[in-house]
Amino acid sequence: MHGYIPPDRFFPYLTWNDIAAMPDRDQVVIIQPCGAIEQHGPHLPLIVDSTIACGAIGAACDRLPADLPCYVLPPLYYGKSNEHQHFPGTISLRTETLLSVLHDVADSLYRAGFRRLILANAHGGQPQIMEMAAVDIHARYPDFWVFPVFIWRVPNETKSLLTETERDRGMHAGDAETSLMFALDRDRVRPHLAICEYPPPCANLFQTKGALTYSWLTNDISRSGVMGDATIATPEKGDRILASLAEGWAHAIIDVFQFAPPTASH
Ligand SMILES: [Zn+2]
Repeated sequence: MHGYIPPDRFFPYLTWNDIAAMPDRDQVVIIQPCGAIEQHGPHLPLIVDSTIACGAIGAACDRLPADLPCYVLPPLYYGKSNEHQHFPGTISLRTETLLSVLHDVADSLYRAGFRRLILANAHGGQPQIMEMAAVDIHARYPDFWVFPVFIWRVPNETKSLLTETERDRGMHAGDAETSLMFALDRDRVRPHLAICEYPPPCANLFQTKGALTYSWLTNDISRSGVMGDATIATPEKGDRILASLAEGWAHAIIDVFQFAPPTASH
């Protein structure tokens, strides 16, 4: 059941006695991979975001010092994906459901003595929910530190491997995700169905040069469900992206382990 996560890092393989005997639980790093089950165009399976969350975190775990205490929860396969609801197969939690799950997981971890939780989210439709949950959990438990981190947001070289158009407008199921899926689960990629479809320029929400943000659904801006160029994805690029994300995430996990809670000066 551990998938990409090294078995000795997979939280559900522990016993309750293992956890009760664990020293310095307040410093142990717990990671919740957060994915989605949502359309990723004609060439990629629904599971992409969950695969990427677990694949990147698993590869990062391989790079951690053996004595650094870090455990990975089972992935949240479902996310909030209603922007993709017009494409069959997308299974979406409601905002309040996802928030509730994150709060319930956090409550359980806190009760067990853990105080550091990373929400490692690979789905672009829900960073806001992660951030809201993180603040609310910390407000409830002032000594519980929650780190909501988008999987692509740690330092990594992905952008340098992409074309300018792809960097600006490749939002979903394009070069980066397709290449990374080659590296993580090649048999699940259908390269002969890969296409290029960019959203219309006015729909580009990642150029913040004064553009309005608005509440789009995928079918407003894409016919295929792809927003990017999947035809230029390669396994070699995927290997480099995975190695780079793994390196960035290993550092992020070490940073969370070494995190010194701030003290406001009075
Ligand atoms: Zn995705």
